[in-house]
Amino acid sequence: MICATDRFGLTQIVFNPNVSPDAHKIATDVRPEFVLRVVGIVEARPAGQENPNLGTGDIEVLVQRAEILNESKLPPFQIAVEENVDEALRLKYRFLDLRHERLQKNILLRHRAIKFMRDYLDARGFVEIETPILIKSTPEGARDYVVPSRVKPGTFYALPQSPQQLKQLLMVAGFDRYYQVARCFRDEDLRADRQPEFTQLDLEMAFVEQDDVLSLVEGCFTELVKTVTPHKKMISPFPRLTFAEAMDLYGSDKPDLRFGMELTNVAEIAAQTNFQVFTSVLQSGGQVKGIRVPGCANYTRKQIDELTELAKAKGARGLATIALASDGIKSPIAKFLSDAQMRALIEQMRAQTGDLLLFVADKASVVASALGALRLELGRRLNLAEKDVLAFAWVIDFPLFEWNAETQRWDATHHLFTAPKPEHVALLDTDPGKVLADCYDLVCNGFELASGSIRIHRRDVQEKILEILKYSREDAFARFGHMLTAFEYGAPPHGGMAPGIDRFVALLCDETSIREVIAFPKTAAATDLMTDAPSAIAPEQLKELQIVIRE
Ligand code: ASP
Repeated sequence: MICATDRFGLTQIVFNPNVSPDAHKIATDVRPEFVLRVVGIVEARPAGQENPNLGTGDIEVLVQRAEILNESKLPPFQIAVEENVDEALRLKYRFLDLRHERLQKNILLRHRAIKFMRDYLDARGFVEIETPILIKSTPEGARDYVVPSRVKPGTFYALPQSPQQLKQLLMVAGFDRYYQVARCFRDEDLRADRQPEFTQLDLEMAFVEQDDVLSLVEGCFTELVKTVTPHKKMISPFPRLTFAEAMDLYGSDKPDLRFGMELTNVAEIAAQTNFQVFTSVLQSGGQVKGIRVPGCANYTRKQIDELTELAKAKGARGLATIALASDGIKSPIAKFLSDAQMRALIEQMRAQTGDLLLFVADKASVVASALGALRLELGRRLNLAEKDVLAFAWVIDFPLFEWNAETQRWDATHHLFTAPKPEHVALLDTDPGKVLADCYDLVCNGFELASGSIRIHRRDVQEKILEILKYSREDAFARFGHMLTAFEYGAPPHGGMAPGIDRFVALLCDETSIREVIAFPKTAAATDLMTDAPSAIAPEQLKELQIVIRE
């Protein structure tokens, strides 16, 4: 008896020497991963031998003829069972790794998700248009991958960080509803779960406002989840938070809304205490905020030290704690607070016996990142996120610019084609830091799934933004002349967004790494262990490109 597998699952095949001695003889030579052709009769399994855990558990194939089409060496890891195999080995033998049932399911689910997106958009009049891979650099805030030109030595194409400019030009061209399952390339610094190339559902629409884009994408994702992963639960409609609210309540612009534990501003009470750390921070314009960690009042010194280290890693100078233990309040800061202040603080934090309160005092950005990180860590430790929930939310009203202290100039928060909110255009000249963008992010379970915006469609506004970003007129024209020119020929108002498909599918598949939903991913060091890319090229190729490699 052999269990034969293909992408539709597993079927039991039976070799009976009385039915076919030849086939039975062949079966004795069969080893794992051999490729077989069998001819036989599908029969009900003998009573009592059915396997209710298997789709094909009621039947078996009684083999009449068998042929070995190809043999297999012993694979470097077992394929029939999931075991803890070193990921480097899995990636080197990805063609075998992909035979695992879990990866097969992931790749098939990815196919169904993408097909759903295509059908959904097609039904709403969207046209899929391919855009080139060899282009001129389009800035999305990362480094470009570049390709040298042989025909024009010394010049380079860039691989698209996204089809941003091309899709806007398609709007100018009159294709008022575009989408593309688009590959994007970004040469960013190494990070565990980043891929140098990734896939976006890139879309753009003309004559729309923010609400039109949001409701299209929300509709598509809601219906997709219901169809492809009906066991998943969603918060519907997706909540909308401003960037300021997200930072204030969750300390993050991509909040994980599967649980509460919001940040509470306790400045009013903190200001009255004798705790100098609190009062001096408040006097210099900072914040004092806290989170309530349910049921952790009995955390040990060591556990508190770990949390303090986490806060410090995010820039905080320390962590103030109040534990509401069953035998009384334990807090290193209690001596700086009157009984009434302590009571007021506990009341404001809505704390109960058994809770642990954590406070950070610092400038707003440090408070947000330290408490935001603690919230996530404790939510994870306490298992607060309900299983199978996809907590989508919109984050809107980001600032248009971020001040870059290193270069001493403004950077575009999203990208430089993002329109300012119409009512803020006047502020561009007077107070760029106050200008809000007409842009939006879709977040889910603590990940940013998509970014998008209403775009600039007028040359004068685009030039103003480039000026604020400190592009000289020549540089602006050299890099974006095609956009500025296109805006002079009846460019319609337009906007769009680009959900990342890899992360979304990983969430649908309950995978923590996007590598598990990409057929041939690269390592965190951007290498392909299977084909050994990147690799050296032949001296003749270098010569043709007029490239000399310096030792
Ligand atoms: N091109 C943008 C990005 O890749 C998305 C968009 O604005 O549509 O983030």
